[in-house]
Amino acid sequence: MPSHPQSKIRTEQSVYDLIVIGGGAAGFFGAINLAGINKGARILILEKSTKLLTKVKVSGGGRCNVTHQCISPAELSQHYPRGQKQLKNIFHQFQATGTVAWFKKAWS
Ligand SMILES: Cc1cc2nc3c(=O)[nH]c(=O)nc-3n(C[C@H](O)[C@H](O)[C@H](O)COP(=O)(O)OP(=O)(O)OC[C@H]3O[C@@H](n4cnc5c(N)ncnc54)[C@H](O)[C@@H]3O)c2cc1C
Repeated sequence: MPSHPQSKIRTEQSVYDLIVIGGGAAGFFGAINLAGINKGARILILEKSTKLLTKVKVSGGGRCNVTHQCISPAELSQHYPRGQKQLKNIFHQFQATGTVAWFKKAWS
């Protein structure tokens, strides 16, 4: 039987608090947040490609401008006609000001 690369991960002897599928912005954000509230958390990020955070590196023409200055959930959600209602609720919980605060805290 051919050996699959993932068969080298000995999951039967490893216990993780969080396993993230995909080493992109969302996956790292979730993993870093858990590590922030639980320093001892065991986290595994599984990435299918050989590169992590590829899109983050190219975002904003390579400058990684990961947020903006529109802080009104109502105004911001208008830019997403197909998910306006759902995103408006989400933006009330986390949006640009939260993003800036998150980066300040993470790198302080
Ligand atoms: C050219 C470009 C410019 C951009 N500019 C900006 C910008 O200026 N500002 C901004 O805020 N956003 C920008 N974005 C958007 C931003 O990069 C994305 O919204 C963000 O990276 C999405 O993050 P994600 O984690 O949801 O998905 P992704 O970054 O796509 O990450 C998903 C990861 O999961 C991996 N994966 C998928 N399936 C599997 C699997 N089955 N098993 C294991 N791994 C898997 C993928 O290989 C990938 O690494 C830009 C995007 C592009 C392409």
